[in-house]
Amino acid sequence: MNYYHQDTVLFLDGQFVKAADAKTDLFGQTLHYGYGVFEGIRSYETVNGVKLFKAYAHYERLKRSCQLMGIPLEYSVEELVQLTYQVLERNDLSNAYIRPLVFCGPNMALTSPSEVSVMITAWPCEQHPTLKPARVCISSFQRPNPKAVTVEAKVCGLYVNSILATTEAKRRGFDDGLLLDLNGFVAEGPGANFFYEKDGVMYTPPTESILPGITRKTVIDICRELELPLEEKFFRLEELFEADSAFFCSTMNEIVAIESIERQTLGKPWRDSMSNLIRETYRNIVLDKSYSYVIV
Ligand code: PMP
Repeated sequence: MNYYHQDTVLFLDGQFVKAADAKTDLFGQTLHYGYGVFEGIRSYETVNGVKLFKAYAHYERLKRSCQLMGIPLEYSVEELVQLTYQVLERNDLSNAYIRPLVFCGPNMALTSPSEVSVMITAWPCEQHPTLKPARVCISSFQRPNPKAVTVEAKVCGLYVNSILATTEAKRRGFDDGLLLDLNGFVAEGPGANFFYEKDGVMYTPPTESILPGITRKTVIDICRELELPLEEKFFRLEELFEADSAFFCSTMNEIVAIESIERQTLGKPWRDSMSNLIRETYRNIVLDKSYSYVIV
C-alpha cells in the first residue's frame, strides 16, 4: 500500500509540506522507545458533504493520551479538527483515513521530551470496508497489563502487542486474533473492540484492559437508540462459544462480522443478527443518514 504520492501534502509542526519532502530525526524518542501517541479518524463523503466522523472525540482522546503520557501538546481540539479538514481539502480527499501522530524529538534518555512534533496525514480508502466475515482465533498474547502501562492511551509502543497478535493469527491461518486480559477475561482484538450477541442481549467488556474505542461508544449509543439491550461485563471464553453473533469494531474497519472463533461457527446467520442491524445503522450514521433509514 502506498500511503502517499508525489503531490501528497501533510501537516507537520505548523506547516503544510509535501509528504515526500518531510523529514524526521533518527534520534527521536518515539522511534526508539515507542513513546508517542496517535489517532485514527475516518472522513466520509456524506449526504451533507465531506465530514470527519467523531473528530472531536478522537482529538479529545489524543489530548487525553498526551496528558496521560506526559507529552505536551500545544494545539486545541478545535485547531486540530480545522487542520484536519485542511489536510483533506489540500489533498482533495473525501473517503479517507486520517492519521494524526504526536511524536517526540531527539532524546535518548528515559525522561519527558522537550521537543514534540505533530503530524497529520491522510490517505484515501473505500467508503465502507469490504472485509469478509472474520475467522478468529484466541491469541496466545494477552492485552498489556493496565498496571504496567496506561492502556487507556493510544500509545505507539502498545502496538507491538497488536502486531504480535495479528502476525500469530495470520500464521495460524486465521484472519484475526482475540486477546484476553491478564485475568483471563475476553478483552479485544489487536486493533478493534469486541461485542457479542446472546439471546437478544449484546455484551462487551468494560474499559479496563482495552482501548476505550470511539466506535465502541457509537455502538453503545446505537443500542440505546434502537432499544437493544446491552451489558458491559467481564466474560470468559466459554460464554463466547454459545454466542449467536459477534463482531469487531473500529474506526478503520467499522463493524466486522465474526464468522467463527477457533473454527467454531457462531449460532445465527449474520443477516438475522442484532449485530447486522447495528452494522447497517452504523453505516447510515457515518454518512449522516438518520436512524430511521434502518428502522423502517
Ligand atoms: N482497540 C485497539 C487496540 C485499537 O487499536 C483500536 C483502533 N483504534 C480500537 C480498539 C478501536 O478504537 P476506535 O473505535 O476508537 O477506532
